[in-house]
Amino acid sequence: MARNFFVGGNWKCNGTAEEVKKIVNTLNEAQVPSQDVVEVVVSPPYVFLPMVKSILRPDFYVAAQNCWVKKGGAFTGEVSAEMLVNLDIPWVILGHSERRALLNETNEFVGDKVAYALAQGLKVIACVGETLEQRESGSTMDVVAAQTKAIADRVSNWSDVVIAYEPVWAIGTGKVASPAQAQEVHDELRKWLAKNVSADVAATTRIIYGGSVNGGNCKELGGQADVDGFLVGGASLKPEFIDIIKAAEVKKGA
Ligand code: PEP
Repeated sequence: MARNFFVGGNWKCNGTAEEVKKIVNTLNEAQVPSQDVVEVVVSPPYVFLPMVKSILRPDFYVAAQNCWVKKGGAFTGEVSAEMLVNLDIPWVILGHSERRALLNETNEFVGDKVAYALAQGLKVIACVGETLEQRESGSTMDVVAAQTKAIADRVSNWSDVVIAYEPVWAIGTGKVASPAQAQEVHDELRKWLAKNVSADVAATTRIIYGGSVNGGNCKELGGQADVDGFLVGGASLKPEFIDIIKAAEVKKGA
């Protein structure tokens, strides 16, 4: 079963309006494989979402980096899923490790957010991943399975979910997982989905890798059988993001 390659750019809390326009111009001018080969989604900070949406080429999509766990109201500083839908923002990143670690988002809270966002009609990039300490103690798969279970317990329709496996020790560190390390976890995650959700969901759900992906390492990572694309932080702010999008071609004829 062919899974369309997916490349997401997480701009995190970076950029001025001028810098953001420059990044969008670079993306707009780029020659990249067509949408049937790669789906491209960029995620600017909230305040730039409408501007980016209005100037970004129509074959690329935008994502918010977070949204509130339920209907909006008296939640100062939050942005609701309904607001994103109202602005035609199709995607949202949920459960990023920076939010889990710095803002204490638990597995259950992330699962609730994923379920609520999907119910409002958003598509979700749901992030999972272990810390270095957890990897070194041999609990990588237990951690990733528990994070995925909290989502699976609350979600029945997986067609609008992309799972981003992002080992915390690889995010923003320049220390990328080896292709074999990424493939191992992606394969285990797919097996987990087959056993605990369904064979169909396991076969069709895209599992993308994130953590220090760059123009130099993307082809080898993307060539792994169960790596269906990337979530890219630092390099998504640079022209090399185009090379990462082009890495989708390694899957052609695979
Ligand atoms: C991320 O923040 O999702 C990420 C993968 O960051 P980086 O590519 O900078 O490691």
